[in-house]
Amino acid sequence: MNSQSLIIDNVAFAKRGERLNGQIAIASCQRLLVFLQSKAPDLSNSSSYILATRDIGFSLVGELDALGRYFLHLNLDAQLNTYCQRCLDSMVLGLKLDFHYLISDKVAGLAEDAFVDDSDDFDLQEPNQSMNLISLIEDELIMAMPIAPAHEFDCSKLAMQAGDKPNPFAVLKGLIKS
Ligand SMILES: [Zn+2]
Repeated sequence: MNSQSLIIDNVAFAKRGERLNGQIAIASCQRLLVFLQSKAPDLSNSSSYILATRDIGFSLVGELDALGRYFLHLNLDAQLNTYCQRCLDSMVLGLKLDFHYLISDKVAGLAEDAFVDDSDDFDLQEPNQSMNLISLIEDELIMAMPIAPAHEFDCSKLAMQAGDKPNPFAVLKGLIKS
C-alpha cells in the first residue's frame, strides 16, 4: 500500500464516517522494526528474520456521533516475529488490538466536558489534517509489546536441555530471571 494514502485528515475522516482497511508491510515501520530487532539475541542475523514478519492488518473507522463528537476506531491484527526472552529462540507474538480515539483539542479542559464519563475508554487525538496512520499504528504496537515477550509454554526446561554446548546468553537469562 502506498504510504501516502495513510495520511488522513482525521476530522474529515470521522465526519464522513469513512472506512479504511489494509495491510502495512513491516518494512514501512522502521521504529517498530528497530524495537523488534532489539529483542534479538544475535543482532547480526536478525534483519532478514524480522523482515519475514507478516504484514500488519488494520482497519480504521471514522464516526461522528449524535453529540457532534468525532471518533476514530482502530483495529490491529499483527503477527510479529520476535524473540522469547526466556529461551532466546524465535517466536511469533500475535496481537489483536482495538483502540478508540476521541478527536478533541480540549485536552486541558477535558475534566469539565460532558463526556468525562467515557474518557477512560478513549484516547485523545488532536485534530490533524495530516495524521500519519502508520506512525500511530507503530506507536500502539510498540506500547502493546510486552517488555519481555516469552513463549506461552514453559520453554525454560527446553532451553536447559538444549545445551550441551555452552550458551553465550546464559548470563543474560540469569539477569532476566532475577
Ligand atoms: Zn521461549
